[in-house]
Amino acid sequence: MHIMDRARAFVESLRRMSQRSENDRRCCPLCHTPGAIKHGFRVRRPYTFRGRIEVRVQRYLCEACGGTYSEDHPDLPVGSWYARSVQRYAIDQWMYTGSSFRRVAEWVRSMVGKQERWQVWHPTSTPSPEEERCRLSHSTVQRWVDKGAQRVEGQVEGLYAGVPSSGLLGADGLWVRLRGGTVRVLLMLRDSATGLLWPPVVALGEEAASAWAALFAQAQRAGLAGGAARSGERRGPRATQLPA
Ligand SMILES: [Zn+2]
Repeated sequence: MHIMDRARAFVESLRRMSQRSENDRRCCPLCHTPGAIKHGFRVRRPYTFRGRIEVRVQRYLCEACGGTYSEDHPDLPVGSWYARSVQRYAIDQWMYTGSSFRRVAEWVRSMVGKQERWQVWHPTSTPSPEEERCRLSHSTVQRWVDKGAQRVEGQVEGLYAGVPSSGLLGADGLWVRLRGGTVRVLLMLRDSATGLLWPPVVALGEEAASAWAALFAQAQRAGLAGGAARSGERRGPRATQLPA
């Protein structure tokens, strides 16, 4: 599915979720029988841009199948400690500003928990109590990015067709150490003006011209207009070394 159609379907699903009537909410998602009854609350304490808040989530009991379920919320993904908006903010910051996962995590913790850099911005503010501090780690941000990438894995063909390109493209590589000690380099092509990241490729090294050619070929398969990858600004190609 084209990336714009995916985006529309995603936004539409959130809109449907937020506009559901009481009858819709009482329709069991397990057996689709209407008329489930209210069955207490579940308390969630997600991290949001308003800090860590307490949310009472309505539970329902379906008398037809005996199943119970919780009401879902467009900004609170099931099973996550972080609001969807916080997750999207982190992913966008990683993509758009090109920050490292560690810096993104630090920035989000500062915004959400009013801690760390927040005290640089607001020197007279009182630090949050220990139990309210946000503990987002860089590996969690990486997991959110990975999850998005896995959803489109193997569906590169025409994914970005028709998406405008500024013509200013930067190619870069990032060395990563995988579980088990295997080392690979992630080659990326990024629109320098919009921050759009074209589908990356994983290679054994960054010296071979064939590895970069595979990156440009993949971008063209995804819909980058022919020649744009060669005519744009290219910082590099170069690779960022793994820290020792
Ligand atoms: Zn049911």
